[in-house]
Amino acid sequence: MSDTKTLAVLGAGQMGGGIAQIAAVAGLNVLVYDAFPGAAEKCQATHKKSLGKFVEKGKLAQGDMDAALGRVKHVTSLDALSAADWVVEAVVEDAKVKKDLFTKLAAMLTRDEVVLATNTSSISITEIATAAGAAAPRVVGMHFFNPVPLMALVEVIPAMQTSKDVTERTIALATKLGKTPLKANDRAGFVSNRVLMPMINEAFYAWMEGVAEPEAIDGIMKLGCNFPMGPLRLADFIGLDTCVHIMNVLAEGLNNDRYRACPLLKQLVTAGRLGDKSGRGVYECPGK
Ligand code: NAD
Repeated sequence: MSDTKTLAVLGAGQMGGGIAQIAAVAGLNVLVYDAFPGAAEKCQATHKKSLGKFVEKGKLAQGDMDAALGRVKHVTSLDALSAADWVVEAVVEDAKVKKDLFTKLAAMLTRDEVVLATNTSSISITEIATAAGAAAPRVVGMHFFNPVPLMALVEVIPAMQTSKDVTERTIALATKLGKTPLKANDRAGFVSNRVLMPMINEAFYAWMEGVAEPEAIDGIMKLGCNFPMGPLRLADFIGLDTCVHIMNVLAEGLNNDRYRACPLLKQLVTAGRLGDKSGRGVYECPGK
């Protein structure tokens, strides 16, 4: 089993940024690639803020924070990822975009020991692996949760083609990153979003149909079900666009219209109300 030293992260957004952060704290060298201008600067600022909070709380030494920041390098081309021995893809939840990237990554990173992992929330890992051609046995689902530095779980999802060795190494890396890996099979939404996302979607229907206002829907689910946050607040946190993408994947993948995204959820996305990341979703998200 080769030891992972350089981890490449594709996508410097909420998830990619978080994955880069925990990998750097765990001592890995991290290369981050994002296709859009400004993403690197935003990611660097988030790292400083997030790691700074760990230092304030006494959970991380200032020197370790500085060392972790020094291990993260932002690059502007895919070619600059050639030194990586592990890739975690965390770009937009769009099957075509991800498959195109995996075709390119497979052609570029041809060494047998390089693992190509995807953080997709719901897209078929088998489909992504197929796009990687001969590299398919090296493709695996490595599904982190948001916010990555705080959430314990990594859902590990082998594709139909994934080798047993790659699955075992994924479990080992997740553990090294301080996470608890749990395995799920490659069915639309895996376990987490198969169960969570229809509930969030139903909360949008409840709002759309006037069952209650968002504050009441969230309050009832928090107090009545002991959830740490209500489903609509959670949707803002995840990103409403990501929620729509995941519902689309469930509807297609499970071949059932009951998983179609609620019209109100889709309309908010059309209006640019994506949640925390755009400053407004169901709620106003001050400071974003
Ligand atoms: P995000 O919108 O915050 O970040 C996505 C980033 O990818 C952006 O910075 C964007 O510029 C970049 N990007 C888009 N296309 C690209 C490309 N072709 N090449 C390089 N960079 C590209 O989204 P996110 O919330 O971080 O989600 C990323 C992935 O993680 C998605 O697949 C999502 O389903 C999954 N995920 C999200 C959550 C969540 O709670 N948000 C949880 C688990 C998994």
